[in-house]
Amino acid sequence: MTFSRLNSASRRALLRGLPAALLGLCAPALVGVGPSRAKAGTDAANASYDPLKQVWVCTFNECDPYYYHPEKGDPVNIVGGHPIPPNTAFEDLPSDWRCPICGAGKDWFVKET
Ligand SMILES: [Zn+2]
Repeated sequence: MTFSRLNSASRRALLRGLPAALLGLCAPALVGVGPSRAKAGTDAANASYDPLKQVWVCTFNECDPYYYHPEKGDPVNIVGGHPIPPNTAFEDLPSDWRCPICGAGKDWFVKET
């Protein structure tokens, strides 16, 4: 009785530690794979869509306008304090990223065709 209680307790402790350990192992892979896999499903109809090739343009009235090129990123962003490394899809930008020219949020951007 005492032993089985001990065993189940230690087993529970093990299981409790396991998800964290698994998450620590898998999180980087999930972050890299998750969004693009979801996107592949969404854009199945448009097989040619490549988020890393899609240029986005700022539509804010007083903007120059600014074009976001995923292959260049935004390494010197001074508005939001978010330097974006090259090869970052617009969809993967932080939600509080802002246009480096006019400071408009991501909502102001549309896909450049
Ligand atoms: Zn702008």
